[in-house]
Amino acid sequence: MQTTSAIQTDALTRAYATFIAVDKLTLSVAQGEIFGFLGHNGAGKTTTISMLTTLLLPTSGSAQVLGLDVVKQNLAVRQQVGYVPEQVRLYNDLTVEENLGYFAALSGVTNIPQRIQEVMTLLGHPEWRERRVGGLSKGMRQRIGIAQALLHQPSVLFLDEPSSGLDPEGKREIRELIGLLNREFGITIFMNTHELSEVTKICTSIGIMNHGHLVMADSLANVMAHFPDAASLEDVYLHYNEQQKAVVPA
Ligand code: ATP
Repeated sequence: MQTTSAIQTDALTRAYATFIAVDKLTLSVAQGEIFGFLGHNGAGKTTTISMLTTLLLPTSGSAQVLGLDVVKQNLAVRQQVGYVPEQVRLYNDLTVEENLGYFAALSGVTNIPQRIQEVMTLLGHPEWRERRVGGLSKGMRQRIGIAQALLHQPSVLFLDEPSSGLDPEGKREIRELIGLLNREFGITIFMNTHELSEVTKICTSIGIMNHGHLVMADSLANVMAHFPDAASLEDVYLHYNEQQKAVVPA
C-alpha cells in the first residue's frame, strides 16, 4: 500500500524579482518524521516553509502537504498545518488564555475552552493560563507559540528556529515537547534550524539547503553512516557547504 508523504515538492521555486531564493526544490518528507532543514543564513529555508504553509505563492513548481496542493487546495492545507515562526506572534497585553482564545477563534476552532485546556496540559504548565504574555520568558513564549499552532489539531507542524536564543534548559524543554508531539500524536515535524546538536538529538531525517538548492536529504542514520570519520553533524554540514561553494559562483 502506498502511503502519502507528509510533504512532497517538485521543482518548487520562488523568486523575489530576479533573485531566486528557492531553486527547483524536490523533496519528500514521510509522515511521522522529525525533519531538520539546515542551511546558512539566507539559504531559502523560511521561504520554503512559507510556501509549504500557503503564506507565499511559488513562482513555479509544485508542493503537496498530505497530498493536498499548497496552491489549489490552500484552505485544506491550512487545516492540516501548524506554523510557529521564529518570532512568535502573540499579544503582550493579553493573557496566555486570551491569546489562545483569540487565535483559536481565528482558526475556526469550535470547542475553544476545551482545546485551550488540552494544549495547556500538553505544555505541562496549565498555571500559565492567567499570565500576561508580555511578562513571559523567551522560552515560555516559544512554547505558547507552539500551543497556539496546535489549537486546530494539525497533522504537520512547521517550526522556524524553535530553539534559537534559548538557554540549555529552554532548548531541552522545546526538544521534549517536539518529541512528545511526534511520539504521542504522530505529528510530522518540519523544522528550520541552525542548532546542529539539537538535530542529532531529535531529528530522524535532514535536508541541507545552500543558496536556494537542496544539496542533500537523507535519514540522519544514513548521513552519519556515510561519514564514518565525521566527528559530528557539523562536519557533514560543513562538507556540503564547502562542496557547494566550489560550484556556486560568488
Ligand atoms: P535564515 O537562516 O537567516 O532565516 P533562510 O534560509 O530562512 O535564512 P530565507 O529567509 O528563505 O532564508 O531567505 C532566502 C533569500 O531570499 C535571502 O537572500 C533573503 O534575503 C531573500 N528574501 C527573503 N524574503 C525576501 C523578500 N520578501 N524580498 C526579497 N528577498 C527576500
